[in-house]
Amino acid sequence: MPKTDHAIELTDYERQDFSVCLGCKICASVCTVNDLDLSTNPQEMLQKLFLGKDVAADDPLVRFCTGCYRCTGACPWEIRIPDVVRALRQVHATESPFEKAFKGSVAIWGRVYEPYVLMRAVPFLLKGGYIKHMMRWMEYMGIHLPHKVKRT
Ligand code: SF4
Ligand code: SF4
Repeated sequence: MPKTDHAIELTDYERQDFSVCLGCKICASVCTVNDLDLSTNPQEMLQKLFLGKDVAADDPLVRFCTGCYRCTGACPWEIRIPDVVRALRQVHATESPFEKAFKGSVAIWGRVYEPYVLMRAVPFLLKGGYIKHMMRWMEYMGIHLPHKVKRT
């Protein structure tokens, strides 16, 4: 079975569901990964899946999608692109640096704390030359610090 078919099976979607995509690229216009100048286009990824074409493990979305769901919130059909990306990562047996950071935070505190994610992402941002986009990210990033839950 082609990897793309297997990836679709891992989601709640069927191949024909992606035919509703309007090609409006609103998803690309709000995509967090594009703040790193990576020119990702979720719509192209959905089109490839719809046409039965492969989406490579080194596709920027497969590598760097943060799972923020900004694309889903902006999409007229609320297509859950991160769900599709997660399925693609599963079939390619790969993880993004952000995913590793999110999982690390959840493993320690049971939830995502942005300062920890930032700390884990900084080496990747420095290595890729993306640190210059940090201020832009900070504009919409909520910062929550670890705290003890009060018992009543
Ligand atoms: S969930 Fe992924 S594809 Fe969607 S906006 Fe965020 S980074 Fe981009
Ligand atoms: S926003 Fe939704 S409908 Fe528009 S191109 Fe992206 S996935 Fe397709």
